[in-house]
Amino acid sequence: MQKSICVIEGDGIGPEVMAQAIKVLNKVALKFNHKFDYQYCLAGGCAIDKTGKCLPDETLNAVLNTDSTLLGAVGGSKWDSEPANNRPEKALLGIRKAMQVYANLRPQKLYAGLDSPLKTEIIGDGIDIMIVRELVSGVYFGEHNQSIENGEQVATDIMKYTEDEIKRVSKVAFELAVKRSGSLLLVDKANVLATSKLWRSVVEKMAKDYPTVNVSYMYVDNCAMQLIKKPSKIDVILTENMFGDILSDEASALIGSIGMSGSASLGDGKRGFYEAIHGSAPDIAGKDIANPIGMILSVAMMLRHSFDLEKEAASVEKAIDLFLQNGYRTQDIMKADNTLVKCSEAGDLICEYI
Ligand code: NAD
Repeated sequence: MQKSICVIEGDGIGPEVMAQAIKVLNKVALKFNHKFDYQYCLAGGCAIDKTGKCLPDETLNAVLNTDSTLLGAVGGSKWDSEPANNRPEKALLGIRKAMQVYANLRPQKLYAGLDSPLKTEIIGDGIDIMIVRELVSGVYFGEHNQSIENGEQVATDIMKYTEDEIKRVSKVAFELAVKRSGSLLLVDKANVLATSKLWRSVVEKMAKDYPTVNVSYMYVDNCAMQLIKKPSKIDVILTENMFGDILSDEASALIGSIGMSGSASLGDGKRGFYEAIHGSAPDIAGKDIANPIGMILSVAMMLRHSFDLEKEAASVEKAIDLFLQNGYRTQDIMKADNTLVKCSEAGDLICEYI
């Protein structure tokens, strides 16, 4: 199989973790006889430095004309004084919007041997949660207004969802639930919000088409609690944009390090946008100590969801398991008895295990 991939290294630790992801892809290509063509592009702070724009047109063209996009991370204090519409993080929104990737998949898995801030008895059977977050609508994309009424400042943010916007992302979540444990949890605030009531009615109707999926419903405030009280009881979470933003960050804190999570953003068709969930980590950039596993897991997700290469994706995930089982750790997940490795060494070892 031959695929073209837009590679955006970005800022801070972005280029360091991306180098490991590319090593892994090269190993997969060699072992399974594929060809991956990389088109390196600029976005974020480094793009502002070189072109004046956080998301140059050439990058957007490459994103829309390759089979999928990988992104390291963008941002840093150097660009704090940029106008709001040219901040490095704006590049992410621009890419997501242009690609219309409405379903954001954020798996949160606690690997054996890694420390969670939760007590062992709470972790129980382990943590393996898939959060499916709606990504291109809701309050973040609604109208935002500030005005003066009766002499005082007033602000409004509109949260709007259409039936179709809910259906398309729910379909992704139902299909994932079928492949996983068969349980789907819709998280909303249906006791208060009209949008949440619409989410419930759409999901209730769709549930009839997925008889093997057990659908349950939970208010978002309760879900925030259950994630730290009984995380092992949760499998696939489906939720709207803002709730997903908050809950997925909460869940990522339960699995040992922010460097351990990958993500996929998907729309219609096969093309996807894949990134680790961490930022550019300026405090550790340039030291070769970042954890590349989140970025490498994002590569596995790209192989599975965009290229239908299940065997290859599983081999990358298995290699990460072996790397951890053999006691190798980057500094963020290091404990006594483990072997400390650099970011680049982690990439080399994971390649060896593929
Ligand atoms: P961050 O995720 O960059 O860092 C938070 C903490 O986690 C830091 O202590 C960092 O050292 C650590 N960390 C992050 N990734 C790590 C990894 N792979 N291995 C080991 N440790 C890791 O969040 P922040 O400090 O709030 O943001 C830094 C910059 O990144 C900001 O400019 C922010 O806007 C940007 N940001 C970008 C993205 C993105 O590109 N998707 C996401 C979040 C934040």
